[in-house]
Amino acid sequence: MTPSASTAAALPALDVAGRIDHLRALFPEAGIDALFVTRLVNIRYLTGFTGSAGLLLVGPDEVLFVTDGRYKDQSADQLAAAGVPARIEISGTEQKRIVHDAAQATGYGRVGLEAHGVTWSQQRGFASEWFPAAELVATEGLVEGLRRVKDPGEVARIRAACGIADTAFANVAGHLADRPTELEFGLELEFEMRRLGASAMSFEPIVAAGPNGAKPHARPSDRRIGPGELLVLDFGCIVDGYCSDMTRTVSVGDPGPEARRMYEVVLESQQAGRDAVRQGVEAAAVDKACRDVIAEAGWADAFLHGTGHGVGLEIHEDPRVSATGRGTLAAGYVVTVEPGVYLTGIGGVRIEDTVVVTPDGCDVLTASPKDLVL
Ligand code: ZN
Ligand code: ZN
Repeated sequence: MTPSASTAAALPALDVAGRIDHLRALFPEAGIDALFVTRLVNIRYLTGFTGSAGLLLVGPDEVLFVTDGRYKDQSADQLAAAGVPARIEISGTEQKRIVHDAAQATGYGRVGLEAHGVTWSQQRGFASEWFPAAELVATEGLVEGLRRVKDPGEVARIRAACGIADTAFANVAGHLADRPTELEFGLELEFEMRRLGASAMSFEPIVAAGPNGAKPHARPSDRRIGPGELLVLDFGCIVDGYCSDMTRTVSVGDPGPEARRMYEVVLESQQAGRDAVRQGVEAAAVDKACRDVIAEAGWADAFLHGTGHGVGLEIHEDPRVSATGRGTLAAGYVVTVEPGVYLTGIGGVRIEDTVVVTPDGCDVLTASPKDLVL
């Protein structure tokens, strides 16, 4: 369809080739000679490979990529296009032997595993059969740490996904007057994002009206969206692997004074959070900026989740923007700011933008208007 073709054509190339060297620079501190990358999203980040099965062994000087016959041509094409100089091995049944022999030949003493992406049984197999001569080391978030800072090509994809979500919302918002069910409206949003060129949804859209909105992650139901009800809409789509994420809360007609007050407080909180985002600021300070406004209004206990999260190849990734989130924000991080107030039996308000952290503030990628009453 024309829109997707034009979206893809306008995207700058991703800068993949240097990522493996950035990863290797982390090996000494992690105490490893090689990293066995098994999380597919990390393999995609490091190599440009988008298939559904693959293994990547990154050594100090060499890279081994293993996949099965379904991806023989695709892996060769994608790794070459990304400029990743890996030895590619294709096998459905001999993967263990291939990795084992490569590790033996190069004599890695300490091989890192991605601790949060490996099951207990996998670890046992890796230790006894895949890398019997090596010491396995549990590593945490090495590739995820690199993924926090987005390069211009990545930001362009997230921006494109945000733009599609904005346009889709503008195109279908008028249909709310026809009183669709939550499921029907979620489907409309999804269809419109796909029609505009999204390859998939970042997650199933949240369409939560009236009391359902009091559950931050409500699933759309067959309940009709009534006039004057608070309606929480949280949705996003994927462009070339990269996600968008946005929440708007609206009402078809006047929702009444309490709902309007909830909305004003969350709007002020969200603005305070956005104002706090800047390179060098503690992630927890952004959370506090949002939380203070809501606490001031007497709803401290009704803000049921953290303020935000990183967005990229995954819809929820590092860094976490929460009271317990450690570390500071750096330029190039893409994070959400999404405070909310949830009152059981009444409903919820959440407002969320996806922003890029800059040296002196942030660049807001989600541009839909923030008018409560449609
Ligand atoms: Zn969201
Ligand atoms: Zn979010």
